[in-house]
Amino acid sequence: MHYVSTRGAVAPSSFEAVLLAGLAGDGGLFVPATWPRLEADDLLALRGRPYPEVAFRVMWPFVDGIEGGRFRELIAEAYAAFAHGEVAPLRQIGPNHWLMELFHGPTLAFKDVAMQLLGRLFDEVLGRRGERVTIVGATSGDTGAAAIEACRDRDSIEIFILHPLDRVSEVQRRQMTTVTSKNVHNIAVEGTFDDCQALLKDMFADQAFREATRLSAVNSINWARVMAQVVYYVYAAIQLGAPERQVRFVVPTGNFGDVYAGYVALRMGLPISRLVVATNRNDILHRFFSTGDYRPGETRPTQSPSMDIQVASNFERLLFELCDRDGAEVAGLMRQLGEDGGFRIDANERLARARAWFDSAAVDEALTNSTIARMQQRTGLLVDPHTAVAIAAAWATEADEGVPTITLATAHPAKFPDAVAASSGERPELPARLADLYEREERFAVLANDLAAVEAHVLARIS
Ligand SMILES: *Cc1c(COP(=O)(O)O)cnc(C)c1O
Repeated sequence: MHYVSTRGAVAPSSFEAVLLAGLAGDGGLFVPATWPRLEADDLLALRGRPYPEVAFRVMWPFVDGIEGGRFRELIAEAYAAFAHGEVAPLRQIGPNHWLMELFHGPTLAFKDVAMQLLGRLFDEVLGRRGERVTIVGATSGDTGAAAIEACRDRDSIEIFILHPLDRVSEVQRRQMTTVTSKNVHNIAVEGTFDDCQALLKDMFADQAFREATRLSAVNSINWARVMAQVVYYVYAAIQLGAPERQVRFVVPTGNFGDVYAGYVALRMGLPISRLVVATNRNDILHRFFSTGDYRPGETRPTQSPSMDIQVASNFERLLFELCDRDGAEVAGLMRQLGEDGGFRIDANERLARARAWFDSAAVDEALTNSTIARMQQRTGLLVDPHTAVAIAAAWATEADEGVPTITLATAHPAKFPDAVAASSGERPELPARLADLYEREERFAVLANDLAAVEAHVLARIS
């Protein structure tokens, strides 16, 4: 499989190059040159098979440069780290409505599903080349923990994660700072999350530093992360009747990576009736799917912080399809976004095409809270605020007659205990494997919001 950029200005690239580079050289995102097919017979053959086997079959057409047996081993290791044997189990919550639980990984959020594989793929490719990289990231909570768990103890990787001092929740901080592997370095910056992101950007812009450290990232635009997320759409759909029967997915959405993976599954042939984009009050994507106008507003904080996003980085991949894969046109629209603060696509043809695939709903804070309460009353289940946004969106939109709905549960309720307790009156407990999180020893450095100080700290630890 070869990969092309959504802005059309780089030569076709290999899987390995795409994995290590993340972003394409022209500022675009990598997408496969063609969509491999999952035929009805393929889906039937996968029904009832274990998650790792489905994972291999779905991802294999996208991979090159790794031997098949080795790829199977990496998949097996990645998903052995999950607390539930099914990795992504379904739980019925109503007539024809299921939750897909994606939070059984080491850090209790769905990002583990892709990150656990990504860390191993990086290590495999770098180890074979005899290379090492320094991964840096900035986090407001969730992503940092998933990246640390994925990269800990990997020979080819040193990982540095910046978080704003005293501005992440205690669970989130401890999930990062209690990992004491030699190659894991937590930095609490005396500043805000925006300061952390600015430091990150400046480190990448500092060419001498970038080269000395072989700087890299594992951010949400990496194609391999999308690829790993396609798997659970297939796994869930075949349990509820694919290929004979269609299913509908409802996805709590921020950067558009997760729901875009659903779109990839659809393009590969999975019978998906509709993908529902569920947003919190940061509703740029809901406005886009309603009007065709893509125009970021001001980001407002919510109880579902991993969806507090205005520019959804993976959205460019869908735009590329809506522009009939014309990279120059995408580049033009992205320029317009920067210069005019937004753009509009043709409502008759292109928006209509997008709406044949996607539905959307925006959910405010009050409805998020009442949904957490209603779920507890109706089913006895506690759900986290991100999942609650999606459940509310599922209830607010309609499925075609007889089509089952699968709503993605992206975080464990114990990751957001205060919000869940405030709405339901019940405090969610951490799973047994994390029960001693509050007693574990923490390790992190506190640094000034100063590029020179952070760079010196990194350099001193990788030499
Ligand atoms: C990251 C995240 C999301 C949003 O996923 P995207 O791929 O960014 O759309 C939703 N819920 C949780 C818990 C997350 O961590």
